Amino acid sequence: MKYLPPEVEEVLSKFRLDREKLQEISEKVEQQMKLGLAQTKGSSIAMLPSYVPALPNGTERGKYVAIDLSGKNLRIMLLHLDGSDPPKHNTVNYIVANHVMKGTGDQLFTFIVNCLQRFLQEFGLVDANLPIGFVFSYPCELLSIRSARLLWWTKGFDIKDCLQKDVVALLEEALEMNMSTKVSIKAVMNDTVGQLAAAAHKYGPECTIGVVIGYGCNSSYLEKTSRITKFDAKARGYTHDDMIVVTEWEEFGKYGELDDILTQFDREVDEASVHRGKQLIDKLCGALYIGEVVRKVLSQLCLDRVLFEGQSCEKLDEVESFPTKYISEILGEEEGVFKACRRICDELEVEMHGTTDYIIIREVCDVISRRGASIVAAAISALLRHLELSSVKIGVGGALIQFHPTYHQMLKEKLEELTPVTMKVRGWLCFRQLFELVPADEGSCQGAALIAAVAERLRL
Ligand code: BGC
Repeated sequence: MKYLPPEVEEVLSKFRLDREKLQEISEKVEQQMKLGLAQTKGSSIAMLPSYVPALPNGTERGKYVAIDLSGKNLRIMLLHLDGSDPPKHNTVNYIVANHVMKGTGDQLFTFIVNCLQRFLQEFGLVDANLPIGFVFSYPCELLSIRSARLLWWTKGFDIKDCLQKDVVALLEEALEMNMSTKVSIKAVMNDTVGQLAAAAHKYGPECTIGVVIGYGCNSSYLEKTSRITKFDAKARGYTHDDMIVVTEWEEFGKYGELDDILTQFDREVDEASVHRGKQLIDKLCGALYIGEVVRKVLSQLCLDRVLFEGQSCEKLDEVESFPTKYISEILGEEEGVFKACRRICDELEVEMHGTTDYIIIREVCDVISRRGASIVAAAISALLRHLELSSVKIGVGGALIQFHPTYHQMLKEKLEELTPVTMKVRGWLCFRQLFELVPADEGSCQGAALIAAVAERLRL
């Protein structure tokens, strides 16, 4: 065990969650999931119907386009399904400017259409009229597979005139106004649905859960329509036995369920956020926020004079001066090599003094990442119990888990710890549920194109 000064251990102990606490969180998550399937209001986990009845089965063929809006990134992909494995694709990333994230709906959707136009021109597809899958990774109430009413913004977006509007209609209006070519939106979905579809395409039908751990954190899974008791399938004209449900578990905690684990640092990050008091799971586990939590802890340790031999570091008081990618860079180095840590200290305009500073900084990054991974594991284990499957693959993706060097392993270990040795599967006592975490990078975008193909195959 590394030596940590007692002041550091005292601060970090607040971030360490033991098995009992995680089990308790997991049970509460499961209760809220069950409630969310039964009623539209009153649960902190919304369990939103997606109107997607099936996952890709490998027979889909053709060219499809995906538009994926998630945080600051807008990705557009051309996916060519010709039977090759992995399928061929071309992707272009566009950055959404800060003023657009907090501007008007017109600005946002015109920006998306302009990027699409540029993309289609670049690939000579202006006249191809390709089917499009649209990933809109914000909580939406779906009214069909092509209609999604925005419930609230997350991940730093705040465009008031879009709230409660159908984002597909907004996109189509912008297409009509700004684009000469015709395209058809075949499906709209949350990024977790895309993630799940991409993973199921890659790993087969045992993959029925998709988890995104990126700027925000959320999941979706394949459910029996009859178990979504709040959903009146007949009245909605939905005839399929299954449907993907988007949990929107990032809202868990809005009724105080996580109050006892929030530290003063989490509360400060929450206070300063655009969505105060909301999306606590994003704030504890997502890439948009955990760098900020690390920054606040380091700043406190600096004030306590346990870091940098008592030197002050003003940069650490600047918002977003410690982006989450620093965490990945520091933990990505072999222990004892501290090139990245030294470079980051240079960027923070403070001198790193020997190994003590390095050990403390590394431990802060590790403990805060580990807490996030543990909470995600608690939420996944709730879903696993709810699903009662003897064996399941969980498709994971998103920038945080993709680029963080130890996240996947931490998540796996915690999930193993939280999975009981025996459990009931449809009334039968079974040994440990078999699960496998399978990565599908760039999943949400590729999956959106695949869902557009599924929508065509099933003539939705
Ligand atoms: C959004 C979810 C999304 C998740 C992952 C959250 O902030 O509310 O809808 O799936 O981030 O991108």
